[in-house]
Amino acid sequence: MTRNMICIGCPMGCDLTVETENGAAVSVSGNSCPIGKKYAETEVSAPTRMVTSTAKAENGTPVPVKTKVPVPKDKIFEVAAAIKAAKVTLPVSIGDIIVEDAAGTGVCIVATKDIKA
Ligand code: SF4
Repeated sequence: MTRNMICIGCPMGCDLTVETENGAAVSVSGNSCPIGKKYAETEVSAPTRMVTSTAKAENGTPVPVKTKVPVPKDKIFEVAAAIKAAKVTLPVSIGDIIVEDAAGTGVCIVATKDIKA
């Protein structure tokens, strides 16, 4: 089976062609660097995405956050809901854990900005 996709590894957006067998990549072409090959292989077997969003502090202050590592694509909405439900206590520093084990993914949500109380 052949799948075509655009690499999201950088703004070049290379057009990738992936030959698959039993749900796994057997060859990748069109990539200009190894990141594209890795992206294509992951995308056909277990697609993941970073999630960036904004949580809210108890006083309503927005707190920019992201997943520490990419999460399975089919968990994005559950992770977003976990971020929305979080009640952040200020102050926070970059890298502080806002949610542990978001939506059962084992991935934590971390602050991406220092926010004073
Ligand atoms: S294959 Fe490499 S150069 Fe092409 S879009 Fe992906 S990261 Fe960028």
